[in-house]
Amino acid sequence: MRVKAKLAYTRTFGCRANVADGERINGMLAEIGYGFTRDINSADLILFNTCAVRENAETRVFGNVGALIHQKRRNPNLIIAVCGCMVQQEHITEKLYKTFPFVDLIFGTHALPKLPQLLENVIQEKKRVVDISDSKTPEMSDRENLPIRREGGLKADVPIMYGCDNFCTYCVVPYVRGRERSRTPDAVFNEIRGLINDGVKEIMLLGQNVNSYGKGLTGNTSFADLLRQIDGIKSEEIGGSDFRVSYMTSHPKDLSKELIDVIAESARISHHLHLPVQSGSDEVLRAMNRGYTIQQYTDIINYARFRIPRISITTDIIVGFPGETRNDFDQTLDLIRKIRFDSAYTFIYSKREGTKAAQMSDNVEAGEKSSRFNEMLAVLDEASGSAYERYIGKTLNVLCEGAGRAGGEFSGKSREGVITDIVNTPKDLDITGKFVNIKVDKALKWAVQGVFRGVFKK
Ligand code: SAH
Ligand code: SF4
Repeated sequence: MRVKAKLAYTRTFGCRANVADGERINGMLAEIGYGFTRDINSADLILFNTCAVRENAETRVFGNVGALIHQKRRNPNLIIAVCGCMVQQEHITEKLYKTFPFVDLIFGTHALPKLPQLLENVIQEKKRVVDISDSKTPEMSDRENLPIRREGGLKADVPIMYGCDNFCTYCVVPYVRGRERSRTPDAVFNEIRGLINDGVKEIMLLGQNVNSYGKGLTGNTSFADLLRQIDGIKSEEIGGSDFRVSYMTSHPKDLSKELIDVIAESARISHHLHLPVQSGSDEVLRAMNRGYTIQQYTDIINYARFRIPRISITTDIIVGFPGETRNDFDQTLDLIRKIRFDSAYTFIYSKREGTKAAQMSDNVEAGEKSSRFNEMLAVLDEASGSAYERYIGKTLNVLCEGAGRAGGEFSGKSREGVITDIVNTPKDLDITGKFVNIKVDKALKWAVQGVFRGVFKK
């Protein structure tokens, strides 16, 4: 099917795995003839790619879809589609289908590669189409070779695996994204080489638990092997240019010392580790089915800081998990003070239908949860507020991403993942897209400022 001069308005909610799906959705739409608009009123197709990880993400989507009634009244030929994690849940799709009769197409995460066919069904047969078929282990080949429309410029995300097998008791991801499956190293390498040849300088490898990469593949490539091989790509193979590689998300239960050694000895792998801890209490971690203790977590952090002294460490924390006592919560605060994370994504526990935690009795009142949440933000701020002072006087390697924010001539990100304002660059020298060395002279709240010291790599 090809559509004639039609415009699509697409919007992705949620995490980077969703953004990566959104890039494939846009790729497929472009291939069948859609152009893209940011003006929702001029669109012929409106598509929302949704997130299910917390209830407020779903509430937002319901609000946004509800508001589309106006566009549909103005243009009865408008096609409205809702896809992704949220609608992979049957109870949500039922509600959405009934509440919003003007939604034409609903499809889940597993049906993503079928988008062109599904749209054709809507257009040709003039009927509402729903595909949330729950394939627990969808064919990987369906996702390979999908067209991709990226907007990241110097940066690109490359999924190395899909789904999750961990079943943390609070989390809906394993239910909406199916079993964990890894792409082959060849598929990953081909994509990376293509991106670098197109001028990409920073590649983020994506997976819900990148440390368990390779399970089920023939050839026994572990995540450490994959990173080692990517780090070893010869610069002749990529036209003499260079790149940096980062990865997300690491799971503390599967993060090996070997992997930290590989990172420490590498030339290109990011020195930023996002390692979600979720709670500082062993009891809560057990109830969450996380598979590690706080002692094990701190041991990994200590080893990482020993091998890579400049490493930056960020985390995710959930407050108010069912049964979390004041004492459990105090242990989370203690951990924050002890580790001094560079930053943290913080969440109030959100009950997700179908998960184990949804069956647990939850005796912590909502008011108490939000006051714990605010208390935690204050402790995080105090513990991490001056964390970047440790970089003062140090030389950092920075990928310059373009014109600077307030105060800096240029702006970029260091190998540690720290946002950097670059000053004192020679007049008329454009360092956008280049790796440069800078010497840090100031620590700002969520960034550092550094003086330009020279271009490091192409
Ligand atoms: N796979 C990644 C992240 C998954 S979701 C990991 O395991 O780290 C991103 C974050 O959302 C999680 O780390 C967790 O902190 C948070 N999250 C997931 N489910 C949640 C829920 N039901 N309520 C509150 N926060 C949740
Ligand atoms: Fe969810 Fe846990 Fe899997 Fe992360 S590892 S996606 S938190 S089940």
